[in-house]
Amino acid sequence: MSEQRFDLNDIVEMKKPHPCGSNEWKIIRMGADIRIKCVGCGHSVMLPRNEFTKKMKRVLRSASE
Ligand SMILES: [Zn+2]
Repeated sequence: MSEQRFDLNDIVEMKKPHPCGSNEWKIIRMGADIRIKCVGCGHSVMLPRNEFTKKMKRVLRSASE
């Protein structure tokens, strides 16, 4: 198992696309819970960190690069 690295403002891809058709999410809050916002429609969801790491597929764009 490789550790997923992600940080605030990164754009990530989740294993399941959002119903709006977009599969790009921006990390807008980091903490015990992670809040992500759908780039396509602006809908945001909050997930416990362990659930987020399970559902995230990969980081598309890192904000720090
Ligand atoms: Zn959406």
